[in-house]
Amino acid sequence: MKILLFGKDGQVGWELQRSLTPLGQLVVLDRHSTHLCGDLTNLEGISATVKHVRPDVIVNAAAYTAVDKAEADVSTARTVNAEAPGVLAEAAKAIGAWVVHYSTDYVFDGSGDRPWEEGDATAPLNVYGRTKLEGEQRIAAQWEKHLILRTSWVYAARGTNFAKTMLRLAKERDRLRVIDDQFGAPTGADLLADTTAHMVRAVLLGVSDSVAGIYHVAAAGETTWHGYARFVIDYASEAGMAFKRSPVMVDPVATSAFPTPAARPHNSRLNTAKLRDTFALHPPPWQQGVARMLTETT
Ligand code: NDP
Repeated sequence: MKILLFGKDGQVGWELQRSLTPLGQLVVLDRHSTHLCGDLTNLEGISATVKHVRPDVIVNAAAYTAVDKAEADVSTARTVNAEAPGVLAEAAKAIGAWVVHYSTDYVFDGSGDRPWEEGDATAPLNVYGRTKLEGEQRIAAQWEKHLILRTSWVYAARGTNFAKTMLRLAKERDRLRVIDDQFGAPTGADLLADTTAHMVRAVLLGVSDSVAGIYHVAAAGETTWHGYARFVIDYASEAGMAFKRSPVMVDPVATSAFPTPAARPHNSRLNTAKLRDTFALHPPPWQQGVARMLTETT
């Protein structure tokens, strides 16, 4: 079994290098790879890579994820997030390979307070969301054997993340101001990568092709960025971390307090019942992964 991974050094890509390893031979690429093209702006190049490697599964963890920058860089965002996934699906079809791809709750308009289901109407608020939605559509139009995992609020132990930023700010400042009118579930890149490996294994073991499609994958429960920050600071305090003042003051503020080029959805909740019912996979509460990440990295 051979798996071709694009975007090997992103948050999810890095964890996939670990989680996919037991499934077979892994060929991993990033945009700078020289032996094979892994640059998603080079559409002919990535198509040639697939033809050359002839994998059983293509996993695309590469994406244009700079949400605000995308507003002024529509062309590159669209090439990477929309055209390249379509090209990968077309190349996969030619060799019968599965395509695994990631998408986002930003395909929805963020209205209401109900967790989004896979079949709900899409209406992205920004360029990033529109290009990610087009990527989903291009894959589905090209080739049936695909798994598209929509997720939200991804963090990773490696590199910087929201939790580490909150801890740093709490050491530097008297009080913090954090948004409390966006709702979602912080989801670990490790959870996404492990879930991906289980899903890939299931399809390769011959569950019928009818499991193909879109799945919502996110940690269980919900919070706001404010609730997330509060949890992180309280957890670190209990573990003995010292801050500029005690207790740390975290003021809840509206999204409008931090204007950004790209509009953000208020409701990023994702309903994961389809993942559970189809693959018997049960995402744990978001606090579990965040606590583990803090224990390992702070
Ligand atoms: P990251 O930004 O951590 O990783 C994306 C990777 O894609 C980076 O390694 C980046 O490389 C690479 N990349 C960007 N442009 C290109 C290109 N032209 N060719 C090849 N590689 C490129 O993102 P995540 O790991 O967090 O995201 C994984 C998936 O999950 C994506 O599909 C994303 O849209 C989706 N998602 C992410 C969310 C989040 O909160 N992060 C939320 C919802 C969905 P470089 O570092 O060199 O730019």
